[in-house]
Amino acid sequence: MYDVLLSPLVKLQASNACPTVTATPETVKAAFTKENDVFAEHNVKYIDPMLNFADRKLFAYQMLQAWQPVLGLSEEENDRAVESGFAALTEYETSVRRRARQVLDQLGREDRIGIVMLGRPYHHDPGLNHEILDEFQKLGYPIFSQNTLPLDEDLLERLFGDEVKAGAIRSPLDISDAWKNSYSCSTNHKVWAAKFTARHPNLVALEISSFKCGHDAPIYGVIEGIIEQSGTPYFCFKDLDENKPSGSIKIRIETIDYFLRRYREEVIRKRKAEQDIEAQLGALEAQLRREAGDAELPRVDQESWEREAQGMTAD
Ligand code: SF4
Repeated sequence: MYDVLLSPLVKLQASNACPTVTATPETVKAAFTKENDVFAEHNVKYIDPMLNFADRKLFAYQMLQAWQPVLGLSEEENDRAVESGFAALTEYETSVRRRARQVLDQLGREDRIGIVMLGRPYHHDPGLNHEILDEFQKLGYPIFSQNTLPLDEDLLERLFGDEVKAGAIRSPLDISDAWKNSYSCSTNHKVWAAKFTARHPNLVALEISSFKCGHDAPIYGVIEGIIEQSGTPYFCFKDLDENKPSGSIKIRIETIDYFLRRYREEVIRKRKAEQDIEAQLGALEAQLRREAGDAELPRVDQESWEREAQGMTAD
C-alpha cells in the first residue's frame, strides 16, 4: 500500500497518496477473504505492506518485513534490492524528463503549442481518459505529464527566477504561494505543473478529473486561477467518468484545436514583437555608443527599458 510518495517539490506539508488509493489493496483483500479465504484456497499469499517512498530507511524496513518471510532475504540483500529499485526509478524519471525538455525546446524553436495534462496518474490510461490525449497528439500537440516536466536549472530559473529573487517563493519547486494545504502528492504536483504551464509561452493546460475526486474539487479554482492569471488558455474535462458521449468529446477537441491554432498565431506575434524590441534596443545602444565615442556608457538594461516604455504607454 503506497502511503507516502516521492516528490521533488519543497516546503510541502506532506506528500501522501490519496487514502482511497492507499487502502485499495486492503479493500481487495477484504473482498476475497470475507466469507472464505480465496487466496489460501488457491495457495496464494497476499502481501500488501504499507510503504513510505519518501523515507528510504523506513521503506527498506517495510520491504524487509514483507519479503523476508517469503524470500528469506538478509538485511543486506534487501538494502541492495531497494537501492537498485530506487536507481531504476530515478533513471526512468530522468529519461522521461530529458525527453520532455527536448520536446519543449523544439516547441519553442518552432513556435508550437504543447499540452500539459493536469490529472491523476490513472488519467494516463486511455481507457480512463477516453483517448482525449491521443486525439490531441494526432492533431500535433505533444502531451506532457504533470509528474515528469523537466527540472533543469536553467529552465526553472527562466520560469521562476524573478519570483525567487523577489522572495515570493523560496525555490522554483515551492508551491506555498499558491497552495498551503499541500499534503496530497498528486494535488501538489498538479499545482506546480499549473504554475509551470502558466509561465511557459508554448504550453497550455488541460485539466482532467474523474470520480468526483475529493482531492481535485478543492483545487479547481486554484488551478484555473493560476493558469488564467497569466493569460494562458485553460481547458478541462471534469467528471469524465460520468460522460461517455464520444461525439461531444470529439466536438470539444475540435473546438479546442481551433482555439489553439488562433492562440499559436498570438504566440508567434508576441515572439516577433520581443525580437523587434531586442533588435531596436541593440540598434539604440549601438547608436548611443557611436555618438558618445564609445565612452563609458552603461549597457542598456532591457527590463527597465521595457518597464519605462510600458509606463509611458500607460500614462
Ligand atoms: S479519484 Fe481522487 S479521491 Fe478518488 S481515489 Fe482518486 S485521487 Fe482519491
